[in-house]
Amino acid sequence: MEIIPIKKNQELEVTVVDLSYLGMGVAKVEGYPLFIENALPGERIQVKVLKIGKKFGFGKMLSILKTSPHRQTIENEDLLRTGIAPLSHLQYEQQLKFKQEQVKNVLIKTAKMPEVQVTDTIGMKEPFGYRNKAQIPVRKMNGVLQTGFYRKNSHELIPLDHFFIQDPEIDAAIVIIREILQQFEVKAYNEKDNSGFLRHIVIRRGYQTHEMMVVLVTRKEHFFQGEKIVQKIQEKLPEVVSIIQNINPKQTNVILGEQEKVLLGRSFIYDQLLGKTFRISAKSFYQVNTQQAEVLYQKAFELANLEKSDVVIDAYSGIGTIGLSLADQVAYVYGMETIKQAVIDAQENAKLNGIKNAEYVTGKAEDIMPRWKEEGIKPNVIFVDPPRKGLDQTFIETACDMDPEKFIYISCNPATMARDLKTFAVNGYFTDSIQPVDLFPQTHHVETIALLQKKTS
Ligand code: SAH
Repeated sequence: MEIIPIKKNQELEVTVVDLSYLGMGVAKVEGYPLFIENALPGERIQVKVLKIGKKFGFGKMLSILKTSPHRQTIENEDLLRTGIAPLSHLQYEQQLKFKQEQVKNVLIKTAKMPEVQVTDTIGMKEPFGYRNKAQIPVRKMNGVLQTGFYRKNSHELIPLDHFFIQDPEIDAAIVIIREILQQFEVKAYNEKDNSGFLRHIVIRRGYQTHEMMVVLVTRKEHFFQGEKIVQKIQEKLPEVVSIIQNINPKQTNVILGEQEKVLLGRSFIYDQLLGKTFRISAKSFYQVNTQQAEVLYQKAFELANLEKSDVVIDAYSGIGTIGLSLADQVAYVYGMETIKQAVIDAQENAKLNGIKNAEYVTGKAEDIMPRWKEEGIKPNVIFVDPPRKGLDQTFIETACDMDPEKFIYISCNPATMARDLKTFAVNGYFTDSIQPVDLFPQTHHVETIALLQKKTS
């Protein structure tokens, strides 16, 4: 684009034509894209230009002249939209469609596989109150401790008590813990000069067990009146079976530090998933939406069409939820994962459920896979479930060399998945179908399962 048709601070009327993958409305002014928060496709709005870039700009919505029939209003929506629930102004049915479209788009544009079928997103009946984990910043505001969330793209704390997408019992616990900390005059962390004490409260609550873990993230180890505080938390919150102090002295956005101390009870909680019991440590990954994780895994197993003689690899395994849930149906499961604590959880989880045909090792998928190949392991089905950055490309090559019948690729980022599907295609595996499952209602996050099969000719 040579001439940018609008200027900063200009006010104009536009029609919103699309929703970006981050959930922002997109309008085009003579072909120049303008991204506008809280705007929905089909809406005619008055907008003020905030920022002009070479290829696109950002605008702020001033008023809606024509409202989308898909817009919904919820309590606190204005706050939630800028924080943990960026799509909460869009009706749920449309959120599901939006997610399916996102996947179709990357399949066409990135993977160049317009022929692949993307089925309807499987949603939740009650798409709120689902998060089993909260990571809440603690700051001092007007002389008192406050908990809430960071406004999008900022470190400005917005106080909030009802998070809408979190388990309401977790919301209530945060307020109770905050009051206890306030009572004991615990100092809140200050990001600007890396001073103060309490940085975050992290809570996990078992969806089935209702066991609660409280992690108090502090800047320093010495915890003045720590014992009394811990006692008080346990007294007020009988579901708490684990209180951990995590020490993070660094000036960083990363929430958890290296060092951990158990202040009360166990270093993990239990939960149940698909009828099996799992222990979960503070640093281990566990899907934040337990109900939908069950739907996701079941769908994945269905697509895998497992047989009793199958050897399965559970790559990027976390605490072993995928491999251990299917171990009964197959001959053997091998799993790997980089976080040592999670691997210990996976090993314990195998024992806990009397599973003898599964083993888990610590290491990077791209390092372990060549070793397994050398050892002559011959998997029939390989499950991969990587973080947002997707799969390591050498991992894909090695895995394809091991000649499995199929892969089940579970992804939380359609863009990197699409990239990886291309590498799979080059290495002899075609994408059969893709199933989005909504694990993160009210947000723009998309989870999908792709079934890849060996090319026959
Ligand atoms: N399958 C699990 C975990 C998925 S999350 C579940 O459904 O719960 C992705 C996991 O991959 C995380 O536990 C993360 O620690 C792990 N991980 C990240 N990079 C990795 C790598 N290079 N090799 C193996 N595991 C990795």
